[in-house]
Amino acid sequence: MRCEVCGRKIHGSPIQALIEGAKLTVCVECSKHGKIIYDEPAPSRETPKLTPTPFVPKKKPMTAKVEITQEVVEGYHSKIRQAREKLGLSHEELGKKINEKVSVLSKLETGKMTPNNQLVAKLEHALKIKLIVPITKEKVTEIPKSPNRELTLGDLMQLEKKGGEEPTERKQS
Ligand SMILES: [Zn+2]
Repeated sequence: MRCEVCGRKIHGSPIQALIEGAKLTVCVECSKHGKIIYDEPAPSRETPKLTPTPFVPKKKPMTAKVEITQEVVEGYHSKIRQAREKLGLSHEELGKKINEKVSVLSKLETGKMTPNNQLVAKLEHALKIKLIVPITKEKVTEIPKSPNRELTLGDLMQLEKKGGEEPTERKQS
């Protein structure tokens, strides 16, 4: 075995070295001029994967989230009015009973105002009616795709706010 660089006989074990891009078998002296390639079976850092990695989907499956929400019934205003009249209560009397302003009650009964949870609870209790019904909603989280442009973060925020309405068109050409 001779050194491929200097041609001298290699004493001991020859060294594999990368010299100027070429993999050569060289002597100890010449190996100093290049990068020694250690081709001894070094303990491999990567442990062979015996078990295949279970496939983990990056995206959550696009199943629509079914959400059960409480919602004020349709026609709550007439329901309130009817129940109040049935009990023979005036706006003032009902207002006193539930500690609400008459104006609030008249707004409710004309459908100009949707009662909040607290108000609904009070009305339900005072009038012995049900104003809230559980509604099963399919919450579609999919964002409508725009073929021309990608949605910006601002668009997403608008979608959040408006609850799925069309984002206001921004003129882009
Ligand atoms: Zn040499």
